[in-house]
Amino acid sequence: MSVDELTAQRDRARQDYEALVAQGLKLDLTRGKPSPRQLDLANGLLELKGDPVGADGTDLRNYGGLNGLPELRAIFAADLQVPVEQLLAAGNSSLELMHDAVVFALLGLVPGAERRWADQPEIAFLCPVPGYDRHFGICERFGIRMIPVPMTPDGPDMDVVERLVAEDARIKGIWCVPKYSNPDGSVYSDETVRRLAAMETAAPDFRIFWDNAYAVHHLTDAPAEIADVLALCAESGHPDRAFVFGSSSKITFAGSGVAFFGSSPANVEWWLSHTVKRSIGPDKINQLRHVQFLRDADGLHEHMRNLAGLIRPKFDAVDKILTAELGGTGLATWTSPAGGYFINLEVPEGCAREVVAKAKAAGIAITPAGATHPYGDDPADRTIRIAPTYPELPEVEAAISGLATCVRLVGTEKLLA
Ligand code: PLP
Repeated sequence: MSVDELTAQRDRARQDYEALVAQGLKLDLTRGKPSPRQLDLANGLLELKGDPVGADGTDLRNYGGLNGLPELRAIFAADLQVPVEQLLAAGNSSLELMHDAVVFALLGLVPGAERRWADQPEIAFLCPVPGYDRHFGICERFGIRMIPVPMTPDGPDMDVVERLVAEDARIKGIWCVPKYSNPDGSVYSDETVRRLAAMETAAPDFRIFWDNAYAVHHLTDAPAEIADVLALCAESGHPDRAFVFGSSSKITFAGSGVAFFGSSPANVEWWLSHTVKRSIGPDKINQLRHVQFLRDADGLHEHMRNLAGLIRPKFDAVDKILTAELGGTGLATWTSPAGGYFINLEVPEGCAREVVAKAKAAGIAITPAGATHPYGDDPADRTIRIAPTYPELPEVEAAISGLATCVRLVGTEKLLA
């Protein structure tokens, strides 16, 4: 664009922004929460049918059953790619399980470890960026140094990952959201998973935190398949390398779902040796209600298709509006994920914070710029996470159109500065 064209664009953006502020909007695209209509589709979960007994006749009202209901684990085992006997069903939050895994490794000896993580002068985790802020929050809470690694459409840049873990025994883990990643929607390629499983690590107790939060959250008719991390780790001679996490938070009720932990037999035994001290058993009545509501893996997939019917139009609307308003301007690129909960918007370097601030001033709340990076610091100040699931479609449309105005305004001002 010539300077004259750019100036004209900026002037138009200024006018549009003034009009946007005058609308007095109050819209929120900050967090990846299910919408009330999504939650309504799971209302069958509120009802318990028949006696509260498990398939083996256990009275589920009582204490016990630390591993979780086998019939619920059987529904999720194939999608989470964990053999049912190595998959545990726990409380309502997988984030809680990830937090506990770090705490258990800090305070106890994870299989293969020579020392507790807490007894080492410094430990670090690799953090593919952009990534999930709550993963980074766990590291920050426990003083685990975070090392950013760039994401690619196939997962983390494996050349960087392999080099870092080979040379530094302080690196104990990596955060991975392998399918429909938060926030860029990437799906790890088979090659990435194979390299993660096979790579040589200086730390004997290195762990992949495999947060498969969006394992069944497809938005197209061609569900993404990823390689089986536990099987590949075992085949590569690193059977204890991966901790698998998942949950039904974005399947049934975000606040009352069921979370899952899966791993090698040795890691599961280690896990249970800690959790047996922490709890006399999970909420098995909630787990039974999940079994009754979902029925089986086919029932789970059918429910996910119904949810996708509500979510897909919002993702489509974001793509359509961004294309109409920003396509060909050179002011933004964005992802068009085939599943999950997020869209990643990249704006010109040094503009993300200002775009989010301008949107906020116009009544549109966006996830703070920087949240996608360790310590809240996106060094290029480019990345903005869009979470379109919660608001209804007209609100998503209004918010994205307003956000695009902010990108045009901040982007053209920056280019003219
Ligand atoms: N992991 C990822 C990648 C997420 O995006 C989220 C929620 O946004 C969670 C975990 C939270 O999971 P849960 O509700 O099971 O704690």
